Amino acid sequence: MRNPQGGRQLDGELLRGVEPLTRLPFGASRYYAGLAQSDDPNADPIAAQFVPRPEELVSLPYESSDPLSDRRFLVTSRLVHHYRDRALLLVNDRCATYCRHCFRRHFTGHGGGRLTDDQLAEACAYLARTPSIKELLLSGGDPLMLADRELEGVIARLKEIDPDYIIRVCTRMPVVLPSRMTDSLASMLGGFDSVWMVIHTNHPRELTNEFREGVRRVIRAGVPILNQSVLLRGINDDADTLEALFRGLVRAGVKPYYLFQGDLAAGTAHFRVPVERGIALMHELRGRLSGMALPTYAVDLPGGGGKVPVESALVRTEADAYVFSGPDGGEYRYPREI
Ligand SMILES: *Cc1c(COP(=O)(O)O)cnc(C)c1O
Repeated sequence: MRNPQGGRQLDGELLRGVEPLTRLPFGASRYYAGLAQSDDPNADPIAAQFVPRPEELVSLPYESSDPLSDRRFLVTSRLVHHYRDRALLLVNDRCATYCRHCFRRHFTGHGGGRLTDDQLAEACAYLARTPSIKELLLSGGDPLMLADRELEGVIARLKEIDPDYIIRVCTRMPVVLPSRMTDSLASMLGGFDSVWMVIHTNHPRELTNEFREGVRRVIRAGVPILNQSVLLRGINDDADTLEALFRGLVRAGVKPYYLFQGDLAAGTAHFRVPVERGIALMHELRGRLSGMALPTYAVDLPGGGGKVPVESALVRTEADAYVFSGPDGGEYRYPREI
């Protein structure tokens, strides 16, 4: 970079601003890119999720590549233990499509690759000595970037430690690459007890016939499916879009679980929606949808505060911040951006 005088400038601020774009790869499946009706991310809710925009270069002081403080809760190289009864295993850093709103930018697409045997052994040793953990999330990256056999090996190894583990496979594959949802994958997952799938949809146009067939295979194999969505400006921040999305999910057999307030991930301010707007949308949706179709509007509190329901945890709104009460009883501030 050059400063206005033309001299060389190695400015930390600028370099930090460049980090998000260089760190999160650009990549989309042919299928998902084909759902876009325009390649302009400002004009299409699918393109907006995978085509980088210059706004990604803008990194605000309170943003981070690790807004959930995953790294603080890493107990082994690939295991995040934040909540007493739950732990999250980073199975792989790759995705079939990289979401521009990704919150795990410190890990996703960095080349860490799949979990090695040693990393799995290290995680298993921790799990074996931590009986408070009852639920395991397999995430990344996308765990379904692994071959069926490899994923089966990971799940089998975990179930050896405790056959009662409830396991969530957190994946975007039914949305970005539904052909990955094969009968053999479904029967492998369904062959274990207490395996759930948690998917990530943000717009009703993602609920294609291919999507529905993919999730139906998994459900028929005995694997229940939940959905997480992120409230995203210009993509789904209106009641009609969210109503169609949640109703469509229930029709496909998927329970809407969370609608997330945008995390403070570096270079994602252009996606975030004011909390007041989120609350108003939930109020509107409550009048339109059954309880079954209504997710919990949740926020992951900055500074590792953890996930809380926005509507019940919001204590007060100040000029520049929303103040939430965290699970530990402490107060956490989430910036109010106007
Ligand atoms: C979100 C999350 C979980 C799961 O939280 P739930 O509210 O049970 O869905 C577990 N571990 C980590 C690290 C998480 O970020």
